[in-house]
Amino acid sequence: MNEEKVPYKCSCGGNLKKTKVEVEFFGIDFGLRDAEVCTVCGSEYLDQETLKEIEKEIKERKIFALERKVQITRSGESLVIRIPPEIAEFLNIHYKSLVQLFPVDKDRMEVKVVE
Ligand SMILES: [Zn+2]
Repeated sequence: MNEEKVPYKCSCGGNLKKTKVEVEFFGIDFGLRDAEVCTVCGSEYLDQETLKEIEKEIKERKIFALERKVQITRSGESLVIRIPPEIAEFLNIHYKSLVQLFPVDKDRMEVKVVE
């Protein structure tokens, strides 16, 4: 594989390098994919083709059918996100389950089921 220069930079200002990364979304393994990785902060950018393929695969698996909009409520100082029963069932989580929250962008958060 030849070292291709990437003509644009990461949002942190670092240089991007073309490489292959192991891609996994919603527990689905997409294998090694072309990506551009920031040499400074390590952010990974997948190419449009890969993103489209992932979207298609996810739609086919009907995971998107579980997508819901929920309103945030409050409990004391904390904000509460209500998880609809069909999503809780899909994730096999219940009252007092432990999850880990990862903010992955300014408008995005991942919730990982721990136990
Ligand atoms: Zn960066």
